Amino acid sequence: GEGAGDTGTDTGTDTGTEETAEEEGGAEEGGLIGVAMPTQTSERWIADGEAVKAGLEEAGYEVDLQFAGDDIPVQQQQIDQMITKGAAALIIAAIDGTAISGQLEAAAAAGIPVISYDRLIRDSENVDFYVTFDNYQVGVQQATSLLVGLGIMDAEGNETDVAGPFNIELFAGSLDDNNAFFFFEGAMSILQPYIDSGVLVVKSGQTDIEQVATLRWQQETAQKRMEDLLTSTYNDGSKVNGVLSPYDGLSRGIITALQNAGYGPGIDAGMPIVTGQDAEIASVKLIADGVQFSTIFKDTRKLAAQAVVAAEAYLAGEEPEANDTETYDNGVKVVPSYLLESDIVYADNITELLVDSGYWSEAEVESGV
Ligand code: BGC
Repeated sequence: GEGAGDTGTDTGTDTGTEETAEEEGGAEEGGLIGVAMPTQTSERWIADGEAVKAGLEEAGYEVDLQFAGDDIPVQQQQIDQMITKGAAALIIAAIDGTAISGQLEAAAAAGIPVISYDRLIRDSENVDFYVTFDNYQVGVQQATSLLVGLGIMDAEGNETDVAGPFNIELFAGSLDDNNAFFFFEGAMSILQPYIDSGVLVVKSGQTDIEQVATLRWQQETAQKRMEDLLTSTYNDGSKVNGVLSPYDGLSRGIITALQNAGYGPGIDAGMPIVTGQDAEIASVKLIADGVQFSTIFKDTRKLAAQAVVAAEAYLAGEEPEANDTETYDNGVKVVPSYLLESDIVYADNITELLVDSGYWSEAEVESGV
């Protein structure tokens, strides 16, 4: 398909040397645009990078696309180089939302507009625009799907008479990623009333984001924490019934830990309800197979298109159109934003949401790659 799985061929080793404006004369035509992505360990960022690049090239720009391997100094250096090369605009998905203020100062001094991509760049005045999804709503959707999986809520969002109690555990993303807070707060807005009434029990007692966070969103870290939770909290014969997981990579680590401890393999054999995010193909297959319960689909093609629209606006001397000017305070200013909507994926709407939209092909869903 034309989905997130199509990663192109040149994503792995972009060194930033082969696509300069001078070599290809881009600066005189559309201009050079720098696109800084955090990592290639998650397929969404590869798809994002490729889609932004393709969209910009179609619009007549040269593109310097870089991935930073989740290494902050590498990302700083990549952005420095984009500025040196004369980028006319920057599109940045930061690793650490607070770590590139120096780069942004240089960009501002050079009059380069900066578009924060998916993740809010914090603590800097020099962020002009933010394109993202409604991240709080993503968290609401994750928690809603957990309630649906446990049977507390039906698919239409109505409460059932299922009263629990259910044992759940909570996971959050990386604390240097502003999104992690929005996902967690959105999720807790739904879960907290059920925790308060005793329908849901966080048996470990770990409910603060600092206790449940996962540095750099790493799968192994989540797997290890789940293993530790099982040993420390569920060694008395009690069972975990559900896990709030904010990202598919973490979900797969959590599922592995649970399977190694004898849960499952599938939900019908006692695998807890595990949520997710990004509709990564390996997780989509796990959902189709009845192992992971849900994920959140954020169509990265739409986000990429929005970033291109924003960049084009700046380069035409205009302001991009925001649809939210209140939510995303980066610590210094409220950054005008364009928010997109996301969808909950369950086993029974994979075809409708992911295959019919061309994001993944049927063959990819079947094989999981
Ligand atoms: C993104 C998520 C992604 C996570 C880990 C977040 O900033 O919004 O889509 O799952 O980073 O890469």
